[in-house]
Amino acid sequence: MDTAVSTADPRDITIIGGGPTGLFAAFYAGMRGMSARIVDSMPELGGQLAALYPEKYIYDVGGIPQILARDLAARCIEQGLQFGADVRLEEQIDELIREPDGSFTLTTNRGRYPTKAVIIAAGKGAFAPRVLECAGYERLLGRGVTHHVKDPAHYEGKRVLIVGGGDSAVDWALNLKDRTRRLILIHRREGFRAHAHSMRLVEEAVRAGQLELLTHREVREIHGEDRVTAVTIFDNRTDVDTHLEVDAVLALIGFKPDLGPISRWGLELERHAIRVDAHMQTSIPGVFAAGDVCTYDGKLELIATGFAEACIAVNYAVHYIDPKARVNPGHSTNLKVFKDREDEVVPVGD
Ligand SMILES: Cc1cc2nc3c(=O)[nH]c(=O)nc-3n(C[C@H](O)[C@H](O)[C@H](O)COP(=O)(O)OP(=O)(O)OC[C@H]3O[C@@H](n4cnc5c(N)ncnc54)[C@H](O)[C@@H]3O)c2cc1C
Repeated sequence: MDTAVSTADPRDITIIGGGPTGLFAAFYAGMRGMSARIVDSMPELGGQLAALYPEKYIYDVGGIPQILARDLAARCIEQGLQFGADVRLEEQIDELIREPDGSFTLTTNRGRYPTKAVIIAAGKGAFAPRVLECAGYERLLGRGVTHHVKDPAHYEGKRVLIVGGGDSAVDWALNLKDRTRRLILIHRREGFRAHAHSMRLVEEAVRAGQLELLTHREVREIHGEDRVTAVTIFDNRTDVDTHLEVDAVLALIGFKPDLGPISRWGLELERHAIRVDAHMQTSIPGVFAAGDVCTYDGKLELIATGFAEACIAVNYAVHYIDPKARVNPGHSTNLKVFKDREDEVVPVGD
């Protein structure tokens, strides 16, 4: 792994977080002729949609009656990156350095990112996965143990143990049930926090013999030399152990939201969120915030509001960078940046 820290080319706007809000901010920045960069600590873009509930349907985004979260994430990515925003994944923003000329440098473990303005779209902060507190977890993490499913095809024909009682664990159990040789879902309590409809599908999968469901079970130890070969689980009512031979352990027990270093930048905070004014401006000029990470009177934590806040944040960031630039972007229907494109496209119906 390359651990060298290098300074990247400067961008007009650097967006911390590649969830729906950050991606829409990248789109809007491009539409306004600004160069943009997204930095996200996760291995993929999409924020909570991709990391927490990819298999759930969303019904309350304007103009889209029903869409799977992962499909909305894909659309946000397509729209957000169309103007060539630079994307840096698996990098957590650490420091905000204020330069004498009013610009900034953001630092991560791998890079230094000079920028004229910053938009914080960090949601609930970098998702730190909750870890299983059992022998073998740390040692076998990445070698059969994971807290993040990247490619379901990887589990084809395997014996898989899923740990967790929330949407993520249940959604992945449903997703993998047709692929695995043996699939076991354990939860430390009786009740699951997952969506009622998902739980009905789980019951069907159990009846069909595609899934084994065990409640009041926890992991005592994960076994294996180079890779996972087995687990010992125990019944937390009787303390009786069960040995299971498995090839993979998916510890889908949630993420701890953590604003981390951002909370130490001297921004005005209110209950773990960043206070913004009506321009989405934080207490540091040139640093804006949008989406779940920000708060103001009347704030709602929704995808729809995040989109609107991203739009406001970008337009005021443009004005911060160039005070002569208009805040109002005009209507996309009339913008030259799209008109040029329309000239190349044969309109539907011709
Ligand atoms: C189970 C569930 C169901 C939901 N259903 C709906 C729904 O039906 N409708 C709806 O409107 N909303 C729904 N929501 C809420 C919605 O998902 C959020 O409002 C939305 O994701 C917020 O988007 P965001 O881009 O602001 O933040 P996020 O989606 O949280 O994205 C923030 C990104 O910032 C990154 N990040 C954070 N800190 C750093 C850092 N220091 N450095 C680098 N990267 C960082 C994170 O890794 C993350 O990718 C649901 C949420 C959950 C959990």
